[in-house]
Amino acid sequence: MKRKKQFRLLTAWLLLAAILTACAGKGGQTPAAATAQTTAAPAETTAAPETVPAETTQEAATAAQTEAAETTAAETEAEEATAAETEAAVDRYEEIIDRSGDDGKFVVYFLDLEVGPDATDKSGDSTILISPDGKVMLLDAGHPDAADMVIQVLEDLGIETIDYLVASHPHIDHIGGIPAVVEKFPVGMAYRSYVDYTTQTFNNYINALEKAGIPVTQVKTGDVIDFGEQMQIEILGPEEEIEYPEGFPQSSTQFLNDHSVLMKFHFGETTALFGGDLYTSQEREYVELYGEELAVDLAKANHHGKDTSNSNKWIRTVHPRIVAAMGDEMVSMDAYNRYLKEGGEYHFTLVDGIIKVILDDQGNYEVIDQFDSWMN
Ligand SMILES: [Zn+2]
Repeated sequence: MKRKKQFRLLTAWLLLAAILTACAGKGGQTPAAATAQTTAAPAETTAAPETVPAETTQEAATAAQTEAAETTAAETEAEEATAAETEAAVDRYEEIIDRSGDDGKFVVYFLDLEVGPDATDKSGDSTILISPDGKVMLLDAGHPDAADMVIQVLEDLGIETIDYLVASHPHIDHIGGIPAVVEKFPVGMAYRSYVDYTTQTFNNYINALEKAGIPVTQVKTGDVIDFGEQMQIEILGPEEEIEYPEGFPQSSTQFLNDHSVLMKFHFGETTALFGGDLYTSQEREYVELYGEELAVDLAKANHHGKDTSNSNKWIRTVHPRIVAAMGDEMVSMDAYNRYLKEGGEYHFTLVDGIIKVILDDQGNYEVIDQFDSWMN
């Protein structure tokens, strides 16, 4: 968690610096006024007792004060740091895992995974989806080193059985954690595409399903899966016939990403779209093929919110009201800005922690981020 925490503190500092610079630029405000402005944000968050347990907030504030005192010399600076750090330190984990009000709702958890500061691999994607009648889907389980985090959240949610276990595509940051998960939880049915791969990670995944005796359904364009009694999932791709590129499995990153399973969830009037790590090349194909059918309320940003994906054309067509990205880094603001321009609210596990989205069947929704960030 250390690296992300540092990142969050850094963003808080940057925000603070930006506000101070803006105030200085105006020339009309004293440093005292600037301080008042920056302390206003955490005051707002602590003033919501129904959403933030007072105990957690107090602990967070105390921790922030301690840290601030250690790291800064001047008293005023320490005050400002406390303000910024308190904002970053609010943690709604307990609120997020509380499922008591979720009956009858479609609930989606975008998990905040990490593989450690020296890792060369990405921590990857893992999403827990719960149908209005309580069926549980795990869509991807991140990198093997992040599997414990996936298991921890499943346990904290009180989940005992995974009804649907879906693999978007065979990369390690999506299927790597699955063997550890199926050792811990019974699984009703595993779903995957017709794409096969040659890595040890892929073999481990297939063997783990087999060893656990989990039935596997391979899905293809045009399939419809029931998700509990009230929801359906349309499989929009890929096809059953897989044309492997020349030289496969060498240089197959784009091929595998473009063959991520594209799923559209339906709950009454409410819709959600998950496309794994689709690149712009395949996004373009789907836009041409499906057009406005791709428009949804909630969308996962493709490929960890990167610029390899999330093209203008895709975003204009999908036009999500809520976008969630899971990733370890944000090398560019382009995808973020494009989604914002189309009117979507963007949430990113890197700064927001776990993202919980609660939807009814009329397109109404609520989003709870684990942490406050400059993004929301
Ligand atoms: Zn990935």
